[in-house]
Amino acid sequence: MAETSYNGSPRKKKKKKKKNNNNNSNKMSYDDWDKYFMSVAALFMKYTNCSRQVGACIVDNNKKIISCGYNEMSRGCSEFCWNKNSRRGFYVCHAELNAIIDAMITSIDLNKCTIYVTLFPCNECAKLIIRSGIKTVIYASAKLETQTEAARRMFNAADVTIRQYKPKGS
Ligand SMILES: [Zn+2]
Repeated sequence: MAETSYNGSPRKKKKKKKKNNNNNSNKMSYDDWDKYFMSVAALFMKYTNCSRQVGACIVDNNKKIISCGYNEMSRGCSEFCWNKNSRRGFYVCHAELNAIIDAMITSIDLNKCTIYVTLFPCNECAKLIIRSGIKTVIYASAKLETQTEAARRMFNAADVTIRQYKPKGS
C-alpha cells in the first residue's frame, strides 16, 4: 500500500515548533525594569543604620546601573546616628546625595539618567538631582512633608519627570 505522504517525500514527524513569534517575549518590559531597579534601591536601603531607611539607584538610558546609595552618616560622624540628643537629620547624608556624589567622584555623567528611590526625595536632594542632570525620578513611597512638597515643585519647574512605582497587581 502506497504511503500517501505529501509530495512523495518521506513522512516526517512534525516537530512542534516552539512559539517564537519574535515579539520580544524574552525582553523585559518597563514594569520589569522598574521592579528590578527598585529592588536594587530597596536592597541598598537595608545597609543603613539610620532610623529612616532610604535607598537609591541611578540608571542610565541603556538600563545600566551607574551608582547606588543609602542613608548614612558622613565619615567620622556615625556617633550622631545613635545620640538621642542630636538631631540626626542634621548629620545624615541622604541616599540620593550618596549615589550622586559616588557617581560624580568617578566623573560619570548623570545627564538624562533616572533615579529610583524608595522614598520621595527631600528638597535638598531635589536640588542635587536637578543640578546633576537626572531627568526622571521614580519613587516607591512619599511622605506628606513640606520638604516633599518643595521638592515636587522644583521637579515640576525643572521638567524632571516624577513617577510613583506601583508593583503589578497593587
Ligand atoms: Zn534628601
